[in-house]
Amino acid sequence: MQMFRRSPILTAPWKNHFQASRFLNEHPSTQNTDDSKETCEVVKDHSYDLLASQTGEYKTRILDITRIQGARVLGSLVNQRPRRVDTHHHIVPDFYAQAIKATGGDPSGWPTPKWSLQSANEQMSLLGVEIAFVSITAPGTKIYEGNTEKGRNFARKLNEFSSNLVQQDPAKFGFFASLPSLIDIEGAIAEIDYAHSILKADGFILFTSYDYDKYLGHSSFRPVWTKLNDINSVIFIHPSEAPTTIVNRYMPQPFVDYPHETTRTAADIVLSGTRAAFPNLKIILSHAGGTLPFLGKRLAGAGLIRSLKCPLGPRQILSDLRSFYFDTALSSSVPQLKALLEFADPSKILFGSDVPYASFPLSFYMTKCFDSFFKKNYSKNKHNDILTNINRNNAKALFIRKITD
Ligand SMILES: [Zn+2]
Repeated sequence: MQMFRRSPILTAPWKNHFQASRFLNEHPSTQNTDDSKETCEVVKDHSYDLLASQTGEYKTRILDITRIQGARVLGSLVNQRPRRVDTHHHIVPDFYAQAIKATGGDPSGWPTPKWSLQSANEQMSLLGVEIAFVSITAPGTKIYEGNTEKGRNFARKLNEFSSNLVQQDPAKFGFFASLPSLIDIEGAIAEIDYAHSILKADGFILFTSYDYDKYLGHSSFRPVWTKLNDINSVIFIHPSEAPTTIVNRYMPQPFVDYPHETTRTAADIVLSGTRAAFPNLKIILSHAGGTLPFLGKRLAGAGLIRSLKCPLGPRQILSDLRSFYFDTALSSSVPQLKALLEFADPSKILFGSDVPYASFPLSFYMTKCFDSFFKKNYSKNKHNDILTNINRNNAKALFIRKITD
């Protein structure tokens, strides 16, 4: 690694983002500076500013930097060519955003972000992402739950859009196909067939629950699991609206309820015997599994309480819980990563960003924390190995057809 070259951009207080942007225009040579402790500290300070600015007076200024130069410059500072694979990367086609608005908005309370292919490319560059597996997040097709025709048509339209995006740049994008609400079993199975055979989807996104409170271990969903298992699917489980009210206007459901919803459905999949019954499935849990790493052993207690008459023993429960893959989207705090690494099989941890629902500044900040965690907690060789695996190799093993080098 080259020695860090001190430059004005890295020593001056970055109080004014306009200044920073202008400096980068005038001093392009600063754009390839190697990573170092000092660089990290400045980037860290800057990322705090970026984060703080989300709702403040700098919002317009931030867009000025990040849209034009931030992606290339800051991306190079996060890590030198990490070649990440992002398995948690959302797209928001205009027709989807309009449908959400027309049906009353996102029931989780989270605002629907603006999206374009250009902004997706910029975010990927910023985060050092080489390949993104895109998906439509919640509420997705659930906005038409109960309306069979609309649900099926909407899933097809979303999948055609995603497929076209991938075809335009297959080296850069893959996609998880959407399904109609699983209460429409026939429609879901038909869309699995179409997306798998015709569109060559890389996997499928499922939400944590359907029909208000039916979680993914529910017996009525078995035919869908059977179908997915038969074609050795990769399943990406994303949290969706929890069957509870928004208790505080500053606390949309993604803050607290989404991690719990992921845990609830993962536990339901295991304790219902679904996980054990369908061994061909590779199931990715969002956001480091929610609270699963923290609660896993507690859940295994179901196999010890005789009155519950759970057919699974505690070892089987733990083994099934550890069979999941876990993405790191919005989960790079020290407690989250330590718990995840304690609980999960390290070969089943995947990089995730959650863009654009995680904004430019937030996703950059979280990725910086993610990189710093491994740098601080592992020796140089070890941290390079584990980061390379999480950033790319673990996904490579999961998507053999898509990632070939
Ligand atoms: Zn997401």
